[in-house]
Amino acid sequence: TGKLPFEALSVETLATRLGTNEALCSKIGKDASAWKVREVGDGNLNLVFIVEGASGGAIVKQALPYVRLVGDSWPLPLKRSFFEYHALTRQAARAPGSVPAIYYFDEVQALIIMEYLSPHIILRRALIEGRQLPNIARDIGLFMARTLFRGSDLSMVTKERKADLALFADNVELCDITENLVFSDPYFDAKMNRHTSPQLDGLVAELRADRDLKVEAQRLKHLFTANAETLLHGDLHSGSIMVTDQETRMIDPEFAFYGPMAFDIGMLLANFWMSFFSQRGHEQKGKRDAMRAYLLDVVVETWAVFRAEFSHLWRTERTGMLYQRSLFEDQGDILAAEQALDDVLHQIWTDLLGFAGIEVHRRILGLAHNADFETIADEDLRASCEAKALKFGRHIAVNRRQIHSIDEVNNLAALIE
Ligand code: ADP
Ligand code: MG
Ligand code: MG
Repeated sequence: TGKLPFEALSVETLATRLGTNEALCSKIGKDASAWKVREVGDGNLNLVFIVEGASGGAIVKQALPYVRLVGDSWPLPLKRSFFEYHALTRQAARAPGSVPAIYYFDEVQALIIMEYLSPHIILRRALIEGRQLPNIARDIGLFMARTLFRGSDLSMVTKERKADLALFADNVELCDITENLVFSDPYFDAKMNRHTSPQLDGLVAELRADRDLKVEAQRLKHLFTANAETLLHGDLHSGSIMVTDQETRMIDPEFAFYGPMAFDIGMLLANFWMSFFSQRGHEQKGKRDAMRAYLLDVVVETWAVFRAEFSHLWRTERTGMLYQRSLFEDQGDILAAEQALDDVLHQIWTDLLGFAGIEVHRRILGLAHNADFETIADEDLRASCEAKALKFGRHIAVNRRQIHSIDEVNNLAALIE
């Protein structure tokens, strides 16, 4: 396929077009006529196929020249596949075992062939079902600490980091989606917005007239665009994580680019808090008190694991040009390194609360809603869950500098719930 111009795959053409692909054949079996092809397609942007042959399965993910959810009225460049591929290779190196293995990449066809995660399911689905996964906090906390630390000037050779910064700087269109859909559209009546109406109309009007909130959202947008400190996943929500009871894998880093560490963490924690506020809407399938307590514990543990691993890497792997050991430890001043670490972690903490609050808002007011709330059929019930989440999001975004601990945030969530 490498030399032909881009052409979208289909369930019907996939075996013919990829039947001679060596990487795929060696994984799933050479006899392409026996391949079974299904389209998964619960994502918003791309084509995803599961291909199963005599000796195994694989995932074939292909970008389209437009947004899948919307159609060709919304063009989006194929090169997002290039950024996803390069992000996956870096994540695999920096946090081994945390992402699917990559078998093949074709830039022209915007196509990635990767490990078929099975029996994994999307974390968001598991949480909606009320399943408590025992390892997610540890696995995701480690993933974030390792990728965010090791993709930054705390760790990398600066020449390599700058080259990567330049490489990912071209991911303009996907950054533009975040810049508008996350930080701006929720706060005015942008065209593609929607919310549960009329139940939320009053609260939505209130939030859009909220000067402190709008200024804070733009400050966070400024941080997002200007603070290019590390390679982010860029779309780290519970729909980008696949799980079994034992295993956790991050997928879909096509939004990867250099931005603030707190962005990935804030978006991720926001998705746990949204799951928390949505549980009331799923209670007909059984009481969810234990699930709510579990979700708050996951938030506490994720942040604790992140901090512990980040601190460990700070003390043992700080090989980059920032906060050099030559200034601190090598002078016998271990406390200077610890002081700087506390400062960096404190900044991440303050910023992640802002990003989390904004992420909650955009999932309820913007274009891309999440299944946690959307699958609540009773609209009054859904709106009451969403209203609580909106108030929570506003509070943590606007007051982020005055909030001191994760317990404080969880207590607030419990109070609002
Ligand atoms: P999009 O960029 O369009 O959101 P995703 O990468 O999120 O696409 O994939 C869409 C869906 O395909 C996922 O929600 C998941 O169900 C499935 N999927 C994607 N990658 C894998 C994988 N490596 N193994 C198993 N299923 C996958
Ligand atoms: Mg996705
Ligand atoms: Mg995606």
